[in-house]
Amino acid sequence: MKPRLSTEEYAAGIASGDRVVLAKAISLAESNLPEDQKQTAELLAQLKPKTTTIRIGITGVPGVGKSTFIEAFGKHITSLNKKIAILTIDPSSQLTKGSILGDKTRMDELSKNPLAFIRPSASGNTLGGTTGRTRECILLCEAAGYEVIIVETVGVGQSETGVKSLVDFFLLLMLAGAGDELQGIKKGIMEMADAIVITKADGDNVKRAKEAQADYQHALNLFAENTSGWKSKVLTSSALENKGMKEVWEVILDFKDHVTLSGYFELQRKEQRTTAFRESFDQLMKNELNRFTEIQKKSATLEQEVADQKISAHEAAGQLLELYYRTIKKT
Ligand code: GDP
Repeated sequence: MKPRLSTEEYAAGIASGDRVVLAKAISLAESNLPEDQKQTAELLAQLKPKTTTIRIGITGVPGVGKSTFIEAFGKHITSLNKKIAILTIDPSSQLTKGSILGDKTRMDELSKNPLAFIRPSASGNTLGGTTGRTRECILLCEAAGYEVIIVETVGVGQSETGVKSLVDFFLLLMLAGAGDELQGIKKGIMEMADAIVITKADGDNVKRAKEAQADYQHALNLFAENTSGWKSKVLTSSALENKGMKEVWEVILDFKDHVTLSGYFELQRKEQRTTAFRESFDQLMKNELNRFTEIQKKSATLEQEVADQKISAHEAAGQLLELYYRTIKKT
């Protein structure tokens, strides 16, 4: 076995921007071993939180052009001499043990750029909570000096709400002329978007992309105003022709100015920290209960009894808690 790095070694490596140490720290954060989770918590406590970063969530159905877009966008960001980290959440890897995102070589060129850090997260395991883990990875990347953080997720409806609770700005990629239904994008996801980008606006597709832009802008204008007071924008891009990247970045900067001025930027981060604490505690409680097979068995039996209306949900929950108290008294 490789020798473990001490928490101080991790902290020093990350603070100096060492990518190998950062990658190792992310593996530590993703590990399910209790000692690894404990060390991650110690590490995060030692690292200095950075507030000047921007966290961007990017989603869209498979094939919309996410990885091509992110590669082109990442190149724009690095051309401004800014460091960008890209983390992916792939719910498919959990369901199929395969991966929608991971199968192909992604962002090949960008991955060679020293200003870019790309981490195709395994995230197949929910034991520690996918969003909780990703949150820790964001903090690690920020401590390593990455100012722009991208959290990419496949737009299949499961993970967007989770991602929204991790990022400052939520970007939805859409295809022109494919129809909302075909794209599997729910109205709720559109409502969450701070901007929509119509991808592949090149060649014959330019006209359709412009039409889609107008249609979506109209649709967004009909939604109630975002709690941030920001009016969501619709843009077009062509990653292949390297078009629209500067404009997307400018919209993100506009957004950041707007919400920093209004106080919403910090308010949202505050709420996200509270949510993270609650989720983290819920997860710990679940892990604690799962330590005991007796409780797991009883829980399964009670679930069935509740379903069959033999016992009320409330009573069953009470019984399970009592069993937990009895079990820990014995240990
Ligand atoms: P993802 O599944 O959302 O990550 O999508 P990819 O980035 O893998 O892109 C899916 C397909 O769309 C690939 O064949 C890309 O070459 C193509 N594609 C991506 N971006 C563009 C673009 O800007 N213009 C055109 N014409 N094709 C694109």
